[in-house]
Amino acid sequence: MTDNSTDQPTEVVPELNEAIAGGSHGHTHGGGSLRPVAEQLAKVLNTIGSIDPIQQPLLDAQGLLLAEEIIADAPLPGFDNSAMDGYAVRAVDLKQASAEHPVVLPVVGDVVAGSRSVSGMGPGLCMRIMTGAPIPPGADAVIPLENTDRGVARVAIYRATRTGECVRRAGEDLAAGAMALGPGAAIGPQQIALLAATGHDRVLVRPRPRVVVISTGSELVEVGKRPSYGEISDSNSFMLAAAARDAGADAYRVGIVPDDHAQLLDVLDSQLLRADMIITSGGVSMGAFDVVKEALSQLGTVEFVRVAMQPGMPQGFGTLGRDRTPIFCLPGNPVSALVSFEVFARPAIRKLLGKRNVQRQTIQAIALERMESPEGKRQFRRGLLHREPDGRYSVSLVGGHGSHLIASMAAANCLVVVEEDVTEVVPGARVTVMPLMLAQR
Ligand code: AMP
Ligand code: MG
Repeated sequence: MTDNSTDQPTEVVPELNEAIAGGSHGHTHGGGSLRPVAEQLAKVLNTIGSIDPIQQPLLDAQGLLLAEEIIADAPLPGFDNSAMDGYAVRAVDLKQASAEHPVVLPVVGDVVAGSRSVSGMGPGLCMRIMTGAPIPPGADAVIPLENTDRGVARVAIYRATRTGECVRRAGEDLAAGAMALGPGAAIGPQQIALLAATGHDRVLVRPRPRVVVISTGSELVEVGKRPSYGEISDSNSFMLAAAARDAGADAYRVGIVPDDHAQLLDVLDSQLLRADMIITSGGVSMGAFDVVKEALSQLGTVEFVRVAMQPGMPQGFGTLGRDRTPIFCLPGNPVSALVSFEVFARPAIRKLLGKRNVQRQTIQAIALERMESPEGKRQFRRGLLHREPDGRYSVSLVGGHGSHLIASMAAANCLVVVEEDVTEVVPGARVTVMPLMLAQR
């Protein structure tokens, strides 16, 4: 394990960052003040605005939040119809009906589901009717097939009924003019059913943010090209695009940008056209070629800070361009990048989607092994969450501290969160766990 792989501080904190971190409540580590995770997250979320609602075809609205009021302009159901396969009758004609003394009625016709016009039905008569078919004028109840001899020309009915039995009333689900769904409603299959039932094939929704993901680093090569000595495959842009999609965004992976000032600014400039958010990885540490930090801190709208977390200490965040598009500049180590995404970028995407709950659900689990954590830093360890036979969750660690360990990250299904003031977790203690595998698109 090297210093570089755990984002250890190697530089004195700039004065500007010191001032923003407030000194007093920023933790001291390695000779400088660190900004608490909560403070950095609050800053991020305060900067995130909203995206104008757009019309979407019904199925594309799945997983999004409604941005309009949906009024039913017709009642639901639209007409009185049968709840059963049976016979449409007048309840008054069957007062005396019983199994011993059935009432026999002439069957004067059939009403099927989809009948567009139904003739009226006189007293002392009945009609065979199917589920969902309109109740003929004159009938006021339906006798299920099971309570008859299923006759075709004449039917013997074995029981009495009451007005309205087995009839689905027009408007009993939703009256004409009633609100079917309101702004902010989450659109899942049930809501899509209601929108379709009320005749809406397009709806106004909070759109999926368009998140542009850029990898920086002169050592990176496109996936599929065999890396030469000193080169590595760009895994971050795939990982972060997948994470952004999992958070509900539409992700656009942009090719690799080498550690070159001018090229980085060029790419950012052209991507601003389509992006609601930009995420870069790499180039935010203290090295001589950490171009993202170098180039963007000069603009004055992106701030580079050291956050009291492990991994993921160096973080850049701010806005770019006329539309003040939010940009996250995450560290390059894959584990640091993913943890930083989870902690800062995911909540930001959820906020752009309009979600009220922007944080991942956490659960409590029993630690199966001892964990040490630096004082004053929130530590995120890769873990494997299990469900015990008694229903409780337990968690073990996978991989070491190294933030470059991609294979061990792939073996994890959660992050174990060790709070700032906890320096040791003993086996059997309860810890907070963020499950990562819940695809929530
Ligand atoms: P940096 O933050 O640029 O100093 O990078 C830190 C470490 O992360 C270095 O070992 C990089 O090679 C590695 N790294 C940076 N970008 C990526 C990427 N897109 N995919 C995989 N590893 C990366
Ligand atoms: Mg780099």
